Amino acid sequence: MIGDPISHSRSPQMHAAAFQALGLPFSYNAIRVSSGEVALALERLLALGYRGINVTVPLKEEVASFVVADAFAARCGAVNTVDLANLWGINTDGPGFLDTLKGAIPPGATVLMLGAGGSARAIALALVLDGYNLRIYNRTTERALTLIRELSIEAEVVENPALQDVQLIVNATSASLNQQSLPISFAQAPRSAVAYDLVYGDSPFLAAAAQAGLRTIDGKPLLAAQGARSLEYWLGVGAPRDAMLEAIQ
Ligand code: NDP
Repeated sequence: MIGDPISHSRSPQMHAAAFQALGLPFSYNAIRVSSGEVALALERLLALGYRGINVTVPLKEEVASFVVADAFAARCGAVNTVDLANLWGINTDGPGFLDTLKGAIPPGATVLMLGAGGSARAIALALVLDGYNLRIYNRTTERALTLIRELSIEAEVVENPALQDVQLIVNATSASLNQQSLPISFAQAPRSAVAYDLVYGDSPFLAAAAQAGLRTIDGKPLLAAQGARSLEYWLGVGAPRDAMLEAIQ
């Protein structure tokens, strides 16, 4: 995995667990690479024998310009998984997010997404392509409008994050990282709604949702699902998804 910062990443332990479960003698390392260094990093990592790379903040957009991206990643403008030998790239954040909704929130449901940053882009595109009705609220409304314009998706940008008729509320902001609250009241949400925060573990957002009686999902299932899809892309075998999720609990 390349990015900056990288030392906090749980991906090495997750992929180590996957390789162990599959009986494969591979290793997965987190390597700090700064913006502007992607071309050199790809060349050096290939020479060192690396087969695949995950890409995290702030390099997903930069990497997209050095690889042949599939249709989804190209439309997102962001690549998080690279097949180094062929210089092909995909984005597993969006499809991985959909994996985590299976059995809980079916396509056709109304989703309110908070945030319009990098992860919000992949999730918004995946949701709309899969048939969900998407509303986006962002602190800076202009950024949400830019997101739907650049992705060419049908979604409603709202200035007031009302929850009365939503089945899923996704917090794709970084507010929880700083333990900051968002301007929403779960008292208005249907009791059957699900609150989903991309951050790992507890957050003020999930605590408020749980207090209002909503089901909650944190960011760990997404980390595991996007990692599983990366592994399947590199190796062409089914990923041990349960072992991967367990490794990051
Ligand atoms: P970005 O920096 O690209 O975007 C940040 C977003 O958060 C913007 O929409 C910004 O709004 C909003 N925001 C930040 N602070 C506040 C606040 N106090 N109140 C309201 N809105 C706020 O971040 P990313 O998209 O890269 O990451 C978002 C979150 O997702 C992070 O917490 C990250 O850790 C998590 N994540 C989890 C993953 C997983 O696998 N579980 C994968 C990737 C990310 P504005 O436009 O107004 O500035």
